[in-house]
Amino acid sequence: MDVLHTPHGDVTLPAFFPDATRGVVRGLDAADLEACGVPGLVVNAFHLASRPGSRTVQSLGGVHALMGWQHPVITDSGGFQIFSLIRQNPKLGTITNNEAIFRSADGRKAQRLSPEKSIQTQLRLGADILVCLDDCTHPSDPLSVQTASVVRTIEWAERCKAEFERGLAQRRRAPGPPPLLFAVVQGGADPDLRRLCAKELIAIGFDGYAFGGWPFDTGRRLLSDILALTCDLMPPEKPRYALGIGSPATLIACARMGYNLFDCSLPTRDARRGRLYVFDSSGDLSYSRVYIRDATHRRSRGALSDTCDCLCCHSYSRAYLHHLFATGDALAWRLATIHNLRFYTTLLTRLATP
Ligand SMILES: [Zn+2]
Repeated sequence: MDVLHTPHGDVTLPAFFPDATRGVVRGLDAADLEACGVPGLVVNAFHLASRPGSRTVQSLGGVHALMGWQHPVITDSGGFQIFSLIRQNPKLGTITNNEAIFRSADGRKAQRLSPEKSIQTQLRLGADILVCLDDCTHPSDPLSVQTASVVRTIEWAERCKAEFERGLAQRRRAPGPPPLLFAVVQGGADPDLRRLCAKELIAIGFDGYAFGGWPFDTGRRLLSDILALTCDLMPPEKPRYALGIGSPATLIACARMGYNLFDCSLPTRDARRGRLYVFDSSGDLSYSRVYIRDATHRRSRGALSDTCDCLCCHSYSRAYLHHLFATGDALAWRLATIHNLRFYTTLLTRLATP
């Protein structure tokens, strides 16, 4: 599986898609993202359904037209956010076998999210890759919760696929590859539940499979064994998506297991905090972090990275970037984010080179 065909072009795998959760990678426009070599973006269907509304996006020509972005877009179902919110605070909603009901903190507004509604929203947004609504858990949740999550995830995936096929049949589709539907494998840290979930989802049949659930244990250690086992359960000829992963080191570890599609908000969030990744001079995957707000960079004339070809490293010094952060200028976010995303696209290129 080296190339993924989507309505908005081919994606060479392995690939990293930055998170444009609310329809924007903060501080960057489409030209900035293209200059970084970003192959595609992940937007959050749940957030866009709240604002500006999926029908509004549809009336404006879809999420690509809205963002001025002509490359592939994955729509995250929003399941992760809802379940993490509801699980952390049951007052914010309930999960039934039929749907999730999310309530605002003041209790005045309720948002219902069923598998069918999630797919309808993602189709209205005009996604290239849709993701089934799933029931996300934490590995520390008890076995009864993990089991219920797997049963629900399989049932919801079946309903998502039926709605997806119904939706596609009703639409007049443009020539070229159709949108794709991915399913999410749940099961916490239990190998048998992961096996069951993967087997049932593969029997239904999807265009790609993702690792779902929180990938770290309570000690913040990566669940390497369960990630590797789950990856091995996925068909090798289909994309294997490590949802929400991750830091450069975590991404490298998962790529070595066989995952070939990634997304994470970490590089852009780190950039806004002045935490930047820089490859060591060896030319391999080794890297270090630069904390650009540190006073040591105040008089540094050198580039953030001598080997990086991004706008920030090509045109400005560490001292200037430090100054932009010190003065709180929006340009600090833009340059730092451009650099971290260029680091990730370079990292993925290096991973693809044997
Ligand atoms: Zn750079």
